[in-house]
Amino acid sequence: MPPVIDARLCSFCGICYDICPQDVFYFDRGRKEVPAIPYPQECWYCGACVVDCPKGAVSLDLPLPLHIVPSPALYGPPGPEEEEALWRAADFSRSIERDSTGGNPGGGNTASSGRKGEKES
Ligand code: SF4
Ligand code: SF4
Repeated sequence: MPPVIDARLCSFCGICYDICPQDVFYFDRGRKEVPAIPYPQECWYCGACVVDCPKGAVSLDLPLPLHIVPSPALYGPPGPEEEEALWRAADFSRSIERDSTGGNPGGGNTASSGRKGEKES
């Protein structure tokens, strides 16, 4: 599920718009409005918007395949480095899940125009 913004928490700072590598959001700095999410299908679930939102207003549900890790039964036990990477991935996944509780589906967003190259500096 693409990101959802809780309009009750959003402070219209535009950080999610600035940070998103996929330009999922659209934000007009001249208006005090919740960022729109005109390109939800572009989200690759990096979690940057959830982590960097200073108000905890963005929630994100990870698709089930992103919760699944390679089975040791099929691929053998992970080595030390792989194990560390799996623990970090699991921690990150749990942090996203925690942040995504109590969201506001729809988030008061409306689709709007705007695309790559239009971000203000
Ligand atoms: S980063 Fe958070 S508070 Fe800032 S505009 Fe995005 S949703 Fe709103
Ligand atoms: S999870 Fe990443 S790609 Fe998806 S909207 Fe947030 S910052 Fe953009």
